[in-house]
Amino acid sequence: MANETHVNDKHPRAESIRVREKITKGVESKVVALAGLIAHGRGEAFDYIIGEQTTSPGMNAITAAAANLLLAKHPVLSVNGNVAALCAKEFVDLARVSNAMLEVNLFHRTPEREYAIEKVLKDAGAEEVLGVGKASTATIPEIFSERRRVDPEGILKADVVFVPLEDGDRTQSLVKLGKTVITVDLNPMSRTAQWAAITIVDNIIRAMPLLIKEVERLKSLKISELKKIKNDFDNKKTLSEVMLLMEHRLHSLAEKGVYLEINNA
Ligand code: ATP
Ligand code: MG
Repeated sequence: MANETHVNDKHPRAESIRVREKITKGVESKVVALAGLIAHGRGEAFDYIIGEQTTSPGMNAITAAAANLLLAKHPVLSVNGNVAALCAKEFVDLARVSNAMLEVNLFHRTPEREYAIEKVLKDAGAEEVLGVGKASTATIPEIFSERRRVDPEGILKADVVFVPLEDGDRTQSLVKLGKTVITVDLNPMSRTAQWAAITIVDNIIRAMPLLIKEVERLKSLKISELKKIKNDFDNKKTLSEVMLLMEHRLHSLAEKGVYLEINNA
């Protein structure tokens, strides 16, 4: 068993440590692959740089994501091990408010992990979970790895796919199949961030509640208003804004010469 940290709320990294506990527990319950730990650490590093808060370009991407989910004919939310360990309940809620299907979609696919993730989603209230066991009968071409299996009722026929924390080759293959890909990725330079139609550069932990609220808020808009949000969104510009924000933040911290006021602590 992983050590319980019972981290003190006053600890400056309390939230980050709690999130790490969720991920390490996910490894123990076979939900998270070992490589998922490394992916999480890569995300954390970029979260430090944006200041561990949702940015304004991040929020714009959340609004565009909500509009695209509401306009979709067949939206699918893709769930991998990290996603299941960090925000299963939020995925179930997002599926409900946006009328989307949930599909287990794994880079490191084993039947054991598929069923473990299905259980986490069902325990969180999901009624139907696609992509588990024999349901994943369709294969789609993937650029640098073996062909990937998806559910013919899910990702295969989806027009909009929400694939947070995804690998670049897999994102590229979905884009090439003509899907509108929405992702959450803290690294604006990753191939997924660059290939997706909408990249929410934020921690998935913060982004999911905001995305659910945004879908609920935009539900009252007319189709024409949703289409305007969709058409006005420019992912390249949004990614540039995030990178500039990172640069400015590092610049101002460097000018101050300190990050933490250690001497005054
Ligand atoms: P790519 O394959 O897209 O070029 P990569 O190989 O650098 O990216 P992967 O491990 O394939 O990285 O993808 C996982 C992505 O998820 C990383 O870009 C990482 O920054 C991001 N990530 C990990 N944890 C979180 C999180 N909690 N919230 C948001 N993004 C995260
Ligand atoms: Mg990758």
